[in-house]
Amino acid sequence: MKCKNGNPKRSSRFICLKCMQLNPCGSGIQRGGHQREKYHIKDLMCLYCKDEKATKNIEIRWCDNYDEIYAKAMEIREKYYKEDNNDRRVG
Ligand SMILES: [Zn+2]
Repeated sequence: MKCKNGNPKRSSRFICLKCMQLNPCGSGIQRGGHQREKYHIKDLMCLYCKDEKATKNIEIRWCDNYDEIYAKAMEIREKYYKEDNNDRRVG
């Protein structure tokens, strides 16, 4: 997988929902100029998690507000990566 930056003006970025880091691997992958919906979730390899599996990443489009997407990511990440609160379960 390439981690090359595309056009910085129009390329999307992604926040990994697992570690909440900006995933540099997700940038510049948009093809064909097709605009996706807001809060698009994509499976990407995360450089920080170093999982063998792809993690869930939320898209920040070039027109989106970072803080807004980050807040949404915090909200929905539980669906994918539940924090260990009191119910510690494997699986
Ligand atoms: Zn990650």
